[in-house]
Amino acid sequence: MQFKELIGQKVIINRLIEGVSENRVSHAQLFAGKEGVGKLAVAIAYAQYVNCKNPSENDSCGVCPSCKKYQKLIHPDLHFVFPVVKTPKIKEPVSDNYLDKWREQVLESPYFNLNMWYKTIDVENAQGQIYVHESSEIIRKLNLKTFEAEYKVMIIWMVERMNVQCANKLLKMIEEPPPKTLFILITENEEQIIQTIRSRTQLVKFIGIQKEAMTNALSKLPKAEGKDIEGIVHQANGNFISATNLISPNELKAQFFDQFTNLMRISYKRDWMPMFEWVDKVAATGRERQKSFLLYSLRMLRENFILNLKQPELNYLDEKERGFSERFCPFINERNILIFAEEFEKAFRDISSNGNPRIIFLDLSLKITKMIRA
Ligand SMILES: [Zn+2]
Repeated sequence: MQFKELIGQKVIINRLIEGVSENRVSHAQLFAGKEGVGKLAVAIAYAQYVNCKNPSENDSCGVCPSCKKYQKLIHPDLHFVFPVVKTPKIKEPVSDNYLDKWREQVLESPYFNLNMWYKTIDVENAQGQIYVHESSEIIRKLNLKTFEAEYKVMIIWMVERMNVQCANKLLKMIEEPPPKTLFILITENEEQIIQTIRSRTQLVKFIGIQKEAMTNALSKLPKAEGKDIEGIVHQANGNFISATNLISPNELKAQFFDQFTNLMRISYKRDWMPMFEWVDKVAATGRERQKSFLLYSLRMLRENFILNLKQPELNYLDEKERGFSERFCPFINERNILIFAEEFEKAFRDISSNGNPRIIFLDLSLKITKMIRA
């Protein structure tokens, strides 16, 4: 991946390049910022740049042997760590178990979020982690002799999902890595990372993608034709993932479906930790999107209530929604449909009048835990 392929973030990119030319590449850096702003993309392009055999002033060459391997993400000195899940087959999962899928995902587009990643590895309802046994893999890989590169690079994506034991085992390695090692830790929420890790890294703070860069990138998408690009750029608020979702409403609908079904499941089970995570995630999306999600939820609730009447001609559910709703609809009945609708409408009004989304969605989910058992 070359810098020229990335969307915006010129200021950060220039600062990183400057660091390389002045020979001060900090060995452990923390790329922090919201989803969809290109942290992973910048990390990979940066790693490719520091290892390029023939870099120009502002980009890697793209054709030297190192760049060629980097572009396929198969360079032996480039390592990735990311959240993974346990399955019946993989009891102690590490990133390498999912490496092929990871490469596929990143090569398709380096702009993706945790939910999209879970979808890629078919574990949409699971909560991934960077497990403790990953630490020995990381230490082992970095202690190997460098194969062919200038720098051994370890990119750890969504480091806030790292198990604390794992983080503790890495402290020493992050503080004093073998020579010519570059750690790039990536996070959407630096506050969730333990302080001992944070204090050992140099913070690179990402802001949203700049409007002009976003407009350019969106205009090139085939789906953009005839769309209100200016409006979309405004709504997306620097998040390229939101922007592409707004361009293809179907993808957005699929995400709303996931959010809605997760919310109902978590609330029914009274799973508090996942509930707080759900709230954080939704609270971090834009206000317009939150409103669309609430409208989507109102529609789902209404459709589920009607489904109980066994009059299919009154229903407007797509196949996936119907599959879920056939099991879910008994929970939405004449005892709770009105209060459900009221609460979702109230949340919609509160979000519209600039209320705090975290409080509004937390309040809503706590109410659902009661309403759903009515
Ligand atoms: Zn090169």
